Amino acid sequence: MNWPPNEECPCHSGTKYKRCCRPLHRGSAAETPAALMRSRFSAFACGLSRHVMDTTHPDGTAFEADRAAWERSIQTFSDGIEFAGLEILSSDIDGDEGHVSFRAMLLHAGKDASFTEHSRFLKEGGRWLYHSGTIE
Ligand SMILES: [Zn+2]
Repeated sequence: MNWPPNEECPCHSGTKYKRCCRPLHRGSAAETPAALMRSRFSAFACGLSRHVMDTTHPDGTAFEADRAAWERSIQTFSDGIEFAGLEILSSDIDGDEGHVSFRAMLLHAGKDASFTEHSRFLKEGGRWLYHSGTIE
């Protein structure tokens, strides 16, 4: 889905999409792990599975070698979910490693499917990548 550039960003930042996650969806490097986390959330919300895959660390637990199958599983996940809200609880950077804790407010078939995750990010070649996460 092409999110309208002047609409509020689907990461719920309150900022227009064109000034929030769109540059990252178009290939700009995220300045912080938290910014990358937001862009991945909004990519799930928009069905931009390529962004999700391209920002996943190859050594991470979420990485799948079969991109076609991976893309299908992302699409299947996103299609049934309403991405109702996002709250960054904390984030920190220590050199080339970063951590973000967030609460994702999701609805699946009208039922609450929200979760809190502690994510780990690693910087590779100047770009932050999602490595892994622990769901609370
Ligand atoms: Zn955004």
